[in-house]
Amino acid sequence: MPPFLSNTLPDTMRAMVLHRPGEALRLERRPLPRPAPGQLLLKVEACGVCRTDLHLVDGELPDPRLPIIPGHEIVGHVVALGEGVTGFVSGQRIGVPWLGWTCGRCRFCTSGRENLCDAARFTGYQIDGGYAEYSVADARFCFPLAHGAALEQAPLLCAGLIGYRALRLAGDSRRVGLYGFGAAAHIVAQVLRHQQRPFYAFTRPGDTESQDFARSLGATWVGDAGQPPPARLDAALIFAPAGALVPAALRHLEKGGCVVCAGIHMSDIPAFPYADLWGERMIRSVANLTRQDGLDFLELAPRVPVRTAVTAFRLEDANEALARLRRGALQGAAVLAMG
Ligand SMILES: [Zn+2]
Ligand SMILES: [Zn+2]
Repeated sequence: MPPFLSNTLPDTMRAMVLHRPGEALRLERRPLPRPAPGQLLLKVEACGVCRTDLHLVDGELPDPRLPIIPGHEIVGHVVALGEGVTGFVSGQRIGVPWLGWTCGRCRFCTSGRENLCDAARFTGYQIDGGYAEYSVADARFCFPLAHGAALEQAPLLCAGLIGYRALRLAGDSRRVGLYGFGAAAHIVAQVLRHQQRPFYAFTRPGDTESQDFARSLGATWVGDAGQPPPARLDAALIFAPAGALVPAALRHLEKGGCVVCAGIHMSDIPAFPYADLWGERMIRSVANLTRQDGLDFLELAPRVPVRTAVTAFRLEDANEALARLRRGALQGAAVLAMG
């Protein structure tokens, strides 16, 4: 063991590992990872369960590195620093997001769009993530976090960041529709209320639980995804992976408005008449995050203040958490608590 690893650390850790898409994650004992130069070793306290993890497990994302430990909403504290790390200290609370590494040289990295880096690597996809007791991460992509409830911070790191980026891409739209009222939407809803912008929550037909939840967070209107809202929307943020929502949202959009697709995967988008797009309406996607998105959102969140609704699961119950997310049987966000 190099000198920077405390001798109080164990030699092994428990982790939930994906070997093949379509299979359940397996609980395994793994050697404790060592921080390479520039990396932090953290003891994971909590890791959010994101819909992207579900797409990974279900084989809907291309070319994952296998076997892989999923999880990219990691909250933990630093237990060892790799050579050359500056700006972090042992014991510090940190967050590790989806964007795990970028090349720093491509045309995207050098123009403030590192989220589009050609060679980017992502936590829990190409880099082992947080469904484990320990994890290593490139310090340059980690965020310092205040000490507080780790469980409630975890969803901020993807649902929060991606939701915030989606909202930013919708500009200063006044009336905002939220399609799919899960982890991301319940955070964006609080930001919208803080900014005194009315929001309209669309859920699966008959999902009265999510509708009540949206109402409790201040929705101006709630309804089924097929229902028309009482006013035209200036923007619609789509967090559910259903392509049919795109033309549905477009039909309720004001001229010049924008439909923002915030998920990494979506079923095919059905054809729609050009007249629905006419009037300078736009459809766009959100891909990943930049570190600046993270810094900006994590600075804003305590001022709102964003309070996340979480359902906690044990590490070994990650498959159950994913199954609940797949069925839509969760309010807010699922989070693994490492205990
Ligand atoms: Zn790059
Ligand atoms: Zn995510």
